[in-house]
Amino acid sequence: MPGEPQTDCLFCKIVTGDIPATIVRESETTVAFRDINPQAPTHVLVIPKAHYPDAASLAAGDPQAAADVLREAASG
Ligand SMILES: [Zn+2]
Repeated sequence: MPGEPQTDCLFCKIVTGDIPATIVRESETTVAFRDINPQAPTHVLVIPKAHYPDAASLAAGDPQAAADVLREAASG
C-alpha cells in the first residue's frame, strides 16, 4: 500500500539506512541526499520518507509531503 516501505526500493533503503547515502538535509517528511550517480557534482535528490511509486501518487496520497519535497528541492 502507498506509504509503506518497499524492500526492493532504493529510496526506501536510503531512508532506512540500509543503503549508505550522504544525507544533506532531513525534515519530518523528506530526506535530501547527494546523488549516488550524479550528473552534476552538487546534485541533490529530495525524496519523501514514505514510499510512493511516483510523484502523482505522492501528491494524491500525501499532499503535505509532496509540498515538502518541492520546497526542499527548491531550497537547493
Ligand atoms: Zn520507496
